[in-house]
Amino acid sequence: MANYDYDLFVIGAGSGGVRAARISAAHGARVAVAEEYRVGGTCVIRGCVPKKLLVYGAHFAEDLKDARRFGWDVPDCGFDWKLLRDNLLGEVDRLNGLYNQTLGNAGVEVILERATVTGKHEVTLAGGRKVSAKVILIATGAHPAVPGCPGHELGITSNEVFHLEALPRRVLIAGAGYIANEFAGIFNEFGSKVTLINRTDVILRGYDEQIRDRLLQISMTKGIDFRFNAKFEGIEKVKGGLKVSMTGHEPIEVDLVLFATGRVPNTRGLGLEAVGVALDDKGAVVVDADNRSSIDSIYAVGDVTNRVQLTPVAIREGQAFADTVFGGKPHQVDYENIPSAVFSHPPMAGVGMTESQARNKLGAVKVYTSDFRAMKNVLADRNERSLYKMICDPTTDRVVGLHMIGPDAPEILQAAAVAVKAGLTKDAFDQTVALHPTMAEELVLMK
Ligand code: NDP
Repeated sequence: MANYDYDLFVIGAGSGGVRAARISAAHGARVAVAEEYRVGGTCVIRGCVPKKLLVYGAHFAEDLKDARRFGWDVPDCGFDWKLLRDNLLGEVDRLNGLYNQTLGNAGVEVILERATVTGKHEVTLAGGRKVSAKVILIATGAHPAVPGCPGHELGITSNEVFHLEALPRRVLIAGAGYIANEFAGIFNEFGSKVTLINRTDVILRGYDEQIRDRLLQISMTKGIDFRFNAKFEGIEKVKGGLKVSMTGHEPIEVDLVLFATGRVPNTRGLGLEAVGVALDDKGAVVVDADNRSSIDSIYAVGDVTNRVQLTPVAIREGQAFADTVFGGKPHQVDYENIPSAVFSHPPMAGVGMTESQARNKLGAVKVYTSDFRAMKNVLADRNERSLYKMICDPTTDRVVGLHMIGPDAPEILQAAAVAVKAGLTKDAFDQTVALHPTMAEELVLMK
């Protein structure tokens, strides 16, 4: 039998790579993980975690205003961007330390160097050292895509947004997906003038139409400008800012351009093609249901495979890989009914099929909705309505989709997603007594 330096060599210490490394080591494998930047990956270092802290920080703008209607004498409050930024970067440092500690405790060797694949069982580190491994796991994630227009280097991406020296007075966000809508809400709450532009006239493609229309309507009421069917033509530096030109609209002057136009798998320069690993047209590693690539000894999990670009999915893929390859407990990730959320202002969340997906698949569907103003918003005189929507299969009464927009929608949906995943019916929701007064009770009162 071949004698390898390691049983498993993981490239990339993000959500998927760390889980795979830790669990494989717990199963008795000799594991090393190489990371070229910081242990923790996109989610912890420059994604979900710092973003959510900004969302919390931004929401105080509304809470402080609403507090006055609840009797609080709130003086005019200032906002210190640098204080929030430094506190959240401190939290990122703390988590980075914890991730390092977790890997160390699990007996995983952490190598802070870029690694490339130079053989079916060989990895070469940036310093020149070559190591061998029985199995190589690619967990290198993805990076922001930037449209190639003239002057694109004058814009930033979600990688840089957490490090801004100052809040922009005027910001243009390119794209209308997750990151665009989340940061539109954040900057708008902090007082920046936000313009969001997209190449088509759709925001949050893939989410239920009625729910995303509600977000569009609320965002516009809050003062966010949208420009649709606007393709980037170029960015140039002008006195006092940046001038952005686009098709179909007048140019606009802003202080910051944030690209949020999707993410590209990190496979370039990794040496994968040279050893025969098949990549798709987006550069993603093509894998089977067991996360195995076209080369038997090379696997991949997480965003680099471009299946579902969500942290909890990458974690499950890492776990399934470790249990299957090193734990003698083979299992595969179930991609049905994955809940997801957009931390916009207000947030939205969904699980299962949208109304149009369900109509395409099932023909007829039954749709139940609740369109209401949260009690807190009524007293706060905030004219912002929530919308909950349940899609059912009319032949079985089974709930096949649940979609929500409103305060705390992601918190509420996580629990309801258990019911959808379990295949419960509308009647099961109806049989459940409402918990009054809550927003969540609308789930069991839908007509
Ligand atoms: P999304 O895929 O959500 O949205 C991309 C947006 O950019 C779309 O509006 C799309 O337009 C537009 N676009 C795509 N390509 C181009 C291009 N070449 N030129 C101009 N516009 C373009 O990507 P994000 O960058 O917002 O986020 C990346 C991924 O990260 C998400 O898909 C998600 O999986 C994950 N994420 C998850 C979060 C969460 O769970 N809350 C938060 C942030 C990110 P159109 O649709 O009209 O074609």
